[in-house]
Amino acid sequence: MNNNKAITDEDRGDHKYDAIVVGSGISGGWAAKELCEAGLKTLVLERGRMVEHLKDYPTATLAPWELPHRGRLKEEILKENPIVSRCYAFNEATEQFFVKDHEQPYIQEKPFDWIRGYQVGGKSLIWARQTQRWSDYEFEGPARDGFAVDWPIRYKDLAPWYSHVERFAGISGNKDGIINLPDSEMLPPFELNCVEKHIQQKVKEYYTDRQVIIGRCAHLTQPGKIHEEQGRHQCMARSLCDRGCPFGGYFSSNASTLPWAEKTGNLTIRPYSVVHSIIYDERLQKATGVRVIDARTKATTEYYARIIFVNGSTLNSNILLLNSTSGRFPEGLGNDSGVLGHYVAFHNYRGNITASIAGFKESYYYGRRPTTAFMPSFRNVFSQQTDFLRGYMVAFSAARSGWQRGSWMEGTGEELKEQLTDPGDWGIYMMMQGETVPKYENYVRLSKDKKDAWGIPQLIISVGYDENDEKLMKDFLEQGSEMLERSGCKDISTRDTGQAPGLDIHEMGGIRMGKDAKTSVLNKWNQVHSCKNVFVTDGSCMTSVGNQNPSLTFMALTARAANHAIEELKKNNL
Ligand SMILES: Cc1cc2nc3c(=O)[nH]c(=O)nc-3n(C[C@H](O)[C@H](O)[C@H](O)COP(=O)(O)OP(=O)(O)OC[C@H]3O[C@@H](n4cnc5c(N)ncnc54)[C@H](O)[C@@H]3O)c2cc1C
Repeated sequence: MNNNKAITDEDRGDHKYDAIVVGSGISGGWAAKELCEAGLKTLVLERGRMVEHLKDYPTATLAPWELPHRGRLKEEILKENPIVSRCYAFNEATEQFFVKDHEQPYIQEKPFDWIRGYQVGGKSLIWARQTQRWSDYEFEGPARDGFAVDWPIRYKDLAPWYSHVERFAGISGNKDGIINLPDSEMLPPFELNCVEKHIQQKVKEYYTDRQVIIGRCAHLTQPGKIHEEQGRHQCMARSLCDRGCPFGGYFSSNASTLPWAEKTGNLTIRPYSVVHSIIYDERLQKATGVRVIDARTKATTEYYARIIFVNGSTLNSNILLLNSTSGRFPEGLGNDSGVLGHYVAFHNYRGNITASIAGFKESYYYGRRPTTAFMPSFRNVFSQQTDFLRGYMVAFSAARSGWQRGSWMEGTGEELKEQLTDPGDWGIYMMMQGETVPKYENYVRLSKDKKDAWGIPQLIISVGYDENDEKLMKDFLEQGSEMLERSGCKDISTRDTGQAPGLDIHEMGGIRMGKDAKTSVLNKWNQVHSCKNVFVTDGSCMTSVGNQNPSLTFMALTARAANHAIEELKKNNL
């Protein structure tokens, strides 16, 4: 492809839009909604196939016995796909929404499980929907603890945008009044079960710095008018969400932002469109469009717009900017600082704990609640307390074993059947979500000789854990065990899964925001410092990663940036 071609208006023809959005996942969906609502003719370029809400959820209503292998994947699929098979959500009912390993190879300089969803809706179809706001303890983290660079924004800058996206998406939870986990705009919460309430009570008795809450999640527990207008209905607590929801009970781009954008008449979605690079015009000193490769035919084409939103998800957006070279930007678009691709971070999920608890036999729970109990970070929040930096959230759930335990029960015939009609003992599963510290050495770059099927250089990923992560995990295993022990649990067993980075599916950074163009790629409005009509608003923009689930913050940053772009366009500044 010619990277320096001069484009005339005639060339542009009907390939001209006001705005281009690369990617239709969680963040791209939000960009499309905001831009279309403001009247901008918006082209969403999506590398995957079309997935239409309701129509394209083939397994959504299947019972286990209607799936050929009861939900399990065939041995050969598992063998051919060691990376994606490690994701808990990849199974016979959901495999159509995951990228198989061979589809887009990448080079693991250090082990990294890159989990991807390439289709209209991206990973919004298969995410676990846990949504918490950041607080200033996260935004101030790098400056306070001396790593990465200072965020160019604070909580007050994002708070109204959190409200904006929460009202539309629908977030269920309690207003818990926790300073480092600010309250969202809430729909009614799901409920903790009796064992979780018991642990909640014990934690309250023993600790002044810890709180157990019900998880906040993007589910419609009580749809409002705005959700009904989207055609969405109440969550039925089926917990089959990652097959696509026939009720629109959870937030996905497919059920929510994309159809909303479409209703404006301003949206064009073009599936099977792999964006190869961004076209930079040296004379105008701005981006004029993108080069696209048809995923099926490999035919190349170009699309043009006044502004470009990059929402391919963290690592794909890194590829796109690194691959967008020109005379002005030989090392990748906006890479004057040399930090493009660097400071990639993720969440440390390595530790987990299992336990049992006696009693509570008279109690059960209704439905399949799509969330769990959570404990906001309690380590190093207000001051440095430990020999590691930052902290972790804790998620846990208690459940009774079901009929599946029959395979290891004694007895046969009627006796066995009798036993199986009763729920079994209570077990507890606890996990961590730890903040990792972004470092220059954790980075991605493009291969000089290996390309993918579309002629785009393969990504080399060099991202690993460090001593801080080990210490943080050790602390979680100690603190978690202590909390469970004080709650009267038995058989407490701790485990380091040793899982590679990436499997958390919360990779962030590489195109970070910052105050200074010398040390960051994006300004406080997610604009590339040196190419202001390109906005990057997915996880790649994150200066640090906090301990909260990240996607709600991507949504709020995207809505904020899109509205800034709209204002700047009105003023003819872009
Ligand atoms: C099993 C699972 C559980 C998760 N649980 C949670 C959770 O509980 N809470 C949470 O906050 N997050 C969770 N996540 C993470 C969440 O899904 C992501 O943070 C979120 O989807 C990122 O949004 P995005 O818009 O950046 O990327 P995506 O949603 O991945 O969308 C990116 C889109 O861009 C397209 N694309 C990529 N490159 C190109 C290109 N070059 N040209 C054209 N199109 C392109 C892709 O095909 C895709 O459709 C989970 C993810 C998974 C898989």
